Amino acid sequence: MKVRKCPACKTETERSVLDSNYSICPACGHYMRFHAKKRLQSLVDKGSFKEWDGDLEWSNPLNDKEYAEKVEDASRKHNLKDAIITGEACIEGNSVAIGVMDTRFMMASMGQVVGERVTRLFERATGKKLPVILFCCSGGARMQEGIISLMQMEKTAAAVKRHDGAGLLYISVLTNPTMGGVTASFALIADIILAEKGAMIGFAGPRVIEQNTGVKLPEGFQTAEFQMDHGAVDDIVERANMRRYMGMVLKHHRKKRSRIICPGSIEKEGRGMVSPGALSAWQTVQRARATDRPTSLDYMEKVFDSFYELHGDRTIEDDHAIVGGIATICGTPVTVIGVQKGKSDIQEALYRNWGMPSPAGYRKALRLMKQAEKFGRPVICFVDTIGAACGKEAEEQGQGHVIARLLKEISTIKVPILSIIHGEGGSGGALALSVANEVYILEHAVYSILTPEGYASILWKDSKRAPEAVDMMKMTSKDLYDLQVVDKICAEPAEFDEKNMRKMCLKLKWDILMFLKKYHGKSDKFILNQRYERFRKF
Ligand SMILES: [Zn+2]
Repeated sequence: MKVRKCPACKTETERSVLDSNYSICPACGHYMRFHAKKRLQSLVDKGSFKEWDGDLEWSNPLNDKEYAEKVEDASRKHNLKDAIITGEACIEGNSVAIGVMDTRFMMASMGQVVGERVTRLFERATGKKLPVILFCCSGGARMQEGIISLMQMEKTAAAVKRHDGAGLLYISVLTNPTMGGVTASFALIADIILAEKGAMIGFAGPRVIEQNTGVKLPEGFQTAEFQMDHGAVDDIVERANMRRYMGMVLKHHRKKRSRIICPGSIEKEGRGMVSPGALSAWQTVQRARATDRPTSLDYMEKVFDSFYELHGDRTIEDDHAIVGGIATICGTPVTVIGVQKGKSDIQEALYRNWGMPSPAGYRKALRLMKQAEKFGRPVICFVDTIGAACGKEAEEQGQGHVIARLLKEISTIKVPILSIIHGEGGSGGALALSVANEVYILEHAVYSILTPEGYASILWKDSKRAPEAVDMMKMTSKDLYDLQVVDKICAEPAEFDEKNMRKMCLKLKWDILMFLKKYHGKSDKFILNQRYERFRKF
């Protein structure tokens, strides 16, 4: 009986049991190394894999004799030609170019063969207009090939850039361990970066860092979870779900739809909400702030048919005050981005920083908008914030600059953008997600230069006069519509109970579909000019 020992809990498990369990330890759930061929088998449609460049000749650029022996040993022992297998396959019916690295072969270090196969994978995928999925693991550059190994970093990165320039999707999956030259080249420049739980991911290894700096690194440093908190990873996906997840993402990145489907039943079923009736401006502000008001995530989950979140700004962190990802609405994929207030309790409020986005949050929003633009997906924003985070850290990280950059960049995003203000729309922090072709507002949401309390305290040195300020500020939906700051007022119900919420979400769904239909097939020039003129008129 062949067994494998779990490196985490030391339990020995039969290989056949591990094979049917994605190489996950049944005793403790630890993700053991998943060999390339077995991983491929678990992912691709049966019999669909065709290997590319399997006969690529091995090279020994520095004529290192010991290295030659090592390579021969590894090849024989593991029946692998080098540390990566590449080819073409189908995943749930979607054609892809796929590469899978294998740590058994010299810790999957990158020498000329690995670099060449990765480069050819991207070049061929570009020619065949295929998306690329690459399962990464590596100890880094292959030392035995010296400077030639270093050159592979730019060679592969440049091939990724050409594939990117052709508007094609690249998903990388970081598995344990992904380190050194591979992180600093093809692994971390994908459109969507996924990781496996617990995987070590980093440029310099922990031992090197500790030796160089004398600093003891904390528990969990450089794990997939750490990298997700620090903005490098979109999501951590379970091995058992990987095939389904890939199938879903690939489906959402197929060629653009020829038309927007708008079933009339949605409009009909959304009718018949009981309106809350007339409120004073101050009462409206209270209602816009109420903790029982739905959040951006509520809308993302209830208005759309499917939604999955993508995380991180790729620079510093994953700001939890901004949420975003890919959703579908009657079969049409869209990018959704929203400000998320923590409303359920104090823990959640702290986690979301009370819906006040940090510079990292706005960087994440811009990243997702650029991604949407690359794949021709319209963007739907949900706005509910008292304003951008204000504090020492936000200033140190350049809050003003980040918002300014977002305002500038959005003006050239070539896909239709719709913003829906559904709670509070406060200041530049709200404007940053309200630069759109059309801006809608819920009946009792508000949008203003700053809070009425702030306004009263600046103008009259008395924040208690906020109710008076509200009337002067013209911040209710009707005022904003008259000022042409918003294009549409969306009805909201007296109570946000389940029945009303369903109706309201159907109504919003219909409004979004009508927006998508209106802009579908319009030229880049039309979309950009329309957005420019919308703000130019003020
Ligand atoms: Zn175990």
